[in-house]
Amino acid sequence: MKLKIVFFICLMAIFSIVLNSCKEDSDTTKPVINLIEPAEGDALQIGGENGVHFEVEFSDNEMLASYKVNIHSNFDGHTHARASGASVDYEFEKSWSISGKNADIYHHEITIPENATPGDYHLMVYCTDAAGNESHIAVNVALSH
Ligand SMILES: [Zn+2]
Repeated sequence: MKLKIVFFICLMAIFSIVLNSCKEDSDTTKPVINLIEPAEGDALQIGGENGVHFEVEFSDNEMLASYKVNIHSNFDGHTHARASGASVDYEFEKSWSISGKNADIYHHEITIPENATPGDYHLMVYCTDAAGNESHIAVNVALSH
């Protein structure tokens, strides 16, 4: 009788492991990005002593993996509805690792050097979860002195 119970517990444990691994493999839900700062149309200071005030919230149904920030010029007025060969002056790109289902990020690690060309730029935030699903958003920002 005791042996039967142990066998049953083992069976349940194996079953739950299999169930969990299947769930991970079939995760197709993209992470959610809630960009707080900078907001659409914000002006970012060139050569400021502090970096850009960057604040964002990420969430995922399973597990977050990383996020990336890219800033590139929009002097040619391109959009992200279709690809185009953009001319680039100041460009920033960096990735960070994150984990858990929720991540609230706040830092001043994005710096804009004194020699950056002022004008219209796109700031992109990408977020990837542990299953490789990626989401991204783009906001229009202006670099000025
Ligand atoms: Zn762009």
